[in-house]
This record gives sequence, structure tokens and C-alpha cells, in this order.
Amino acid sequence: MKNRLLAVASLCLMLLFLGACGEKVADRDISQTSKESNSITWGVKNDTRLFGMMDVKTKEVKGFDIDIARGITEKILGPDASAIFVEVTSKTRIPLLKNGNIDAIIATMTITEERKQQVNFSDVYFDAGQSLLVKKDSGIKGIEDLGAGTTVLAVKGSTSVDNIKKAAPETTVLEWENYAECFIALQSGQGDAMTTDNAILLGMASQNPEYQLAGGAFTQEPYGIAINKGQDNFLKEVNEALAEMHQDGTYDRIFDKWFPETEDGRVKD
Ligand code: GLU
Repeated sequence: MKNRLLAVASLCLMLLFLGACGEKVADRDISQTSKESNSITWGVKNDTRLFGMMDVKTKEVKGFDIDIARGITEKILGPDASAIFVEVTSKTRIPLLKNGNIDAIIATMTITEERKQQVNFSDVYFDAGQSLLVKKDSGIKGIEDLGAGTTVLAVKGSTSVDNIKKAAPETTVLEWENYAECFIALQSGQGDAMTTDNAILLGMASQNPEYQLAGGAFTQEPYGIAINKGQDNFLKEVNEALAEMHQDGTYDRIFDKWFPETEDGRVKD
């Protein structure tokens, strides 16, 4: 009898232990774990000027997404909390979120119905639209010039790939791992144009005066912060923090810092 009781007790302990081990990192309540660690881990771009760009000198990532993430972290956890940044690309961001490597994605990510099947999104925090970047003497004025025989460069895992295939079905689309690679490919003549959001292209054109945006935006790309499904408390905290940042002027200050020439929340192109 005693032995049987012991066996049952150790079986229970084993199941408890397995249960605890079996809990995926992504399943933990981020609104609790962030308070325990006094930090939020954000997936951000490291190669996208104006949004998330690694400053090689200071080893700090800088941009609009970074400052918004810092602002939200401070609103949720207080001024002493840490915003931790982990590099993502358009292709790796959802897998990294689902695996629990990051608590949220703030990385030029468009809210789409397709992505909503996999993750939840915060309220819109930035409005972009897809456009083209070309060499000033390329002769390409807009998507109407992207017919058969032209090549467009885009980044894997971005909405830009599907959008350009729909908008310019005759053009050849070459896909790259990230924006740094994609722009180098454009510079080395591997395509006639590069396509992604106007705000991202603007960051590239501002540093490379021989390139310009061509045509206006041909899609709408509302950016949201992606959070794992089931993290409703954390999602609510993020939306409340964003609303507070709009109310107290923090959002406008950050916006003006990165986009000083625009006044209505849209990036001019
Ligand atoms: N906003 C678009 C997207 O979410 C393009 C920018 C990006 O690749 O992150 O796919």
C-alpha cells in the first residue's frame, strides 16, 4: 500500500514537472513575465533607416520603431525598465515571435488579414504605402513602366512581393533576405527598381541622392505591433500605452524626430 502511494506520488510529481517543462515560452503571460523581468523584448529591424537601423559606431539600434518601443516599455513598466531589441527580418519575425524569442514585433509590419490568422495586432501606429525606388536616370516613372523584360527587387516575407506581383504581373520579381541586401542588388544593377514601403525607400533615397521614389504609393500599409495570440492582457497594455503616447504628445515628438517634413501622419513621396 505504502509503495503504491509512493509510486502514485512520484508519478504526480513527474507529471507536474513535465507539465512545467512543456509550457512553451510563448504561452507565458507576457504582461506578468515583463513585470518580473522589468523588460520587454522587441523584434526590430536592424537594416532599415528611419525605423530600425544599427549604428555601427555606438552598437545601438535607432529609428521610429525603436523609439515607439521604448515609449511603450516606459508607459507599461516605468522609467527604469529595459526595452531589449532583437534583430528580425521580414521573413523571420513571425517565427521568432511564435517561438517566444521576442515578446512583440515592431518592425515596419503591415497589418493584413493573412497575418491575423497567425498573430494579433495592436492599433495602427504608422501609415505607409508601397512604392518604387529607382535610379534617377532609369526612365521608370511608376508601376505602369514595369512590364515584361523588367526586374523588380523585393524582400522575402514582405507584403511587397505579393503586391507587386498583382500590380505589375509581367515584371520579374527577385527576392532578397533583407533590405540591406536588396538595396545593394539595386545598386549593382540586378534590377530596374526596388519595391517596398515609401517610408523605407525614403530612408534609402535620403542617404543615396542618385536614387528617387517613382510614382505614388499603390497600396496601403498600416503598421501594427504583432503579439502572440492568447496574450490579450499584454495587447491591451500595448494599446493603452500607445493611446497615452498620442494623448500626452510623446507620439508626435517621436514622429517629428524621424519624419520632420510631414504633418498628417503620412509619409510624402
Ligand atoms: N510593410 C511591409 C510588410 O510588412 C513591408 C516592409 C517589411 O518588409 O517589413 O511586409
